[in-house]
Amino acid sequence: MHRHDASTEILTQAVLRYAVDRVRLDPPPLDGPQSAQNLRAMAGHTITERGIGGLEALRVFGDVLAPACISVDHPRFLSFVPAAPTEAAILFDLVVGASSVYAGSWMEGAGAVFAENEALRWIADLAGLPPEAGGAFVSGGTAGNLSALIAARWKWRHDAAGEHDRTRGLMITSSGAHSSVAQAGRAMDADVITVPADETGRMHGAQLDATVEALDPVDRDRLFAVIATSGTTNAGVIDDLTGAADVSERLGVWFHVDGAYGGAGLVAPALRDKFAGIERADSFIVDPHKWLFAPFDCCALLYRDPRVAKAAHTQQAEYLDVLHDDDDWNPSDYAHHLSRRARGLPLWFSLATHGTAAYREAVETTLEVAHAGADLIRRSDHCELVVEPELSIVMFRRRGWTAEQYHAWSDAQLAAEESFVVATSWHGETVLRICLVNPLTTVDDLAAIIESLR
Ligand SMILES: *Cc1c(COP(=O)(O)O)cnc(C)c1O
Repeated sequence: MHRHDASTEILTQAVLRYAVDRVRLDPPPLDGPQSAQNLRAMAGHTITERGIGGLEALRVFGDVLAPACISVDHPRFLSFVPAAPTEAAILFDLVVGASSVYAGSWMEGAGAVFAENEALRWIADLAGLPPEAGGAFVSGGTAGNLSALIAARWKWRHDAAGEHDRTRGLMITSSGAHSSVAQAGRAMDADVITVPADETGRMHGAQLDATVEALDPVDRDRLFAVIATSGTTNAGVIDDLTGAADVSERLGVWFHVDGAYGGAGLVAPALRDKFAGIERADSFIVDPHKWLFAPFDCCALLYRDPRVAKAAHTQQAEYLDVLHDDDDWNPSDYAHHLSRRARGLPLWFSLATHGTAAYREAVETTLEVAHAGADLIRRSDHCELVVEPELSIVMFRRRGWTAEQYHAWSDAQLAAEESFVVATSWHGETVLRICLVNPLTTVDDLAAIIESLR
């Protein structure tokens, strides 16, 4: 099964044809989930002693399994945070898979790591991080936040020269922060306290300051990181990053900016002012698999001073010593991982192919459509905005609807493969939320969705 023979040649053609046909679908079917019971009945037993054969397995995937996965790149997939990978990025993902690159170390993956670092540099420059900034691509924002915060805690303990080695750490973030920050706290056995965000979900420096001032001296000593969000997941608003940077600086603690979704907005010059202060971050993440048109899974994790991350994350073992003989850039040193796919390469290839201006235009297109959609809502008599959109998330209510009505509408839309828009909640109220990252989504798509809410 490792040799390329006549039967693998047939399979090669079939698999490549399947992949290329999928890329060509414009749009792909929206599709939708099935129960495990239905899937069992339709797929049959696929893992057998003798194998069912590649063509049959591919048929099961194409006929049964793939249709039971919602197409995240469908222009009317507007729930959670969708993905909209470019064709170049998707195709190159196939190349990455075919190339058997181990991208954890420079020794093994120098060429791939070099190219990934070019893409990271582009992002670091957008954020205004210094020339020595660097990091690695990890699987997602959850992994990126955790890795950055592990580095932050390492520095806090290191600076305390042993005094805090047994002290439970404390992080401070906004009530609008993503769930992965609390999850990082649980994984690290550290506490997370939240600053009340304003009514739009934004954290302000003054509130952060007040929360810090209210800490008792023992807790103040436990504080090792301030985490701000540049594009909250629910409402898409950017925290007061300058205010957060000021407080971090005054306290002498690590400043992390979570831009998993909204960090891509840095690409749009008109938005740049809203990110003021991001250039002061000690660490920053953005997920190219969200709004930078890369396939899953891909998070860019950057550190102002990568030496701290390296000290925190490098794994030491007899069998790894040969990797650490020199100053080579090993991505495995910059996050909580070791083996890794060169998951930044699809982004690199697409950026190299299209140039950064195409990225700017694509992000600007989604912003324009989101704001045009917000206008439709403003002008409608049955819907109204809940928060003024700042990035490409539009949160709104259908006047007079109960939670049940929202859920029934959403289920019916998906069942009819019309759209995938799920409800969220905002200050306890069930509302709708549309997240636009796909440049193929049109104002007409949004108009149809708004119309269907009558
Ligand atoms: C999506 C998101 C995350 C988590 O990213 P994953 O890639 O899903 O792990 C973290 N923070 C913010 C602000 C997000 O929007």
